[in-house]
Amino acid sequence: MGKTMRDVKCDSCKESFSAVPKYTFLGFIKFKCPKCNSKSFYPLSKGYRVTYWIIAIIVSLKFKEIGLLGIESVLNSGSAMAYQELAIIFLLFFIPVYALIKDSILRKKATA
Ligand SMILES: [Zn+2]
Repeated sequence: MGKTMRDVKCDSCKESFSAVPKYTFLGFIKFKCPKCNSKSFYPLSKGYRVTYWIIAIIVSLKFKEIGLLGIESVLNSGSAMAYQELAIIFLLFFIPVYALIKDSILRKKATA
């Protein structure tokens, strides 16, 4: 299986070129312009977008279940394990939210 080339346009110098897409850690598609070497980013693939939505929804339900009082009691407990667990839940919430916000900005740009 060969890698699929995609026709893209550089964000900086507007050069059109074909390139094999690379993926960032969060699943964004990344291209490097052969002319000016700057990087252009493209929105998430549908699979990533759906996954981030599912994680964000599950984690916000988890937050609702813990509640503000629950978070406060974890903070008051002084337990390192409980802190860690809370930190992981926060990360699991902010990473998908961050990715979805960035995705929506890139998608707006793509249709503009
Ligand atoms: Zn360029």
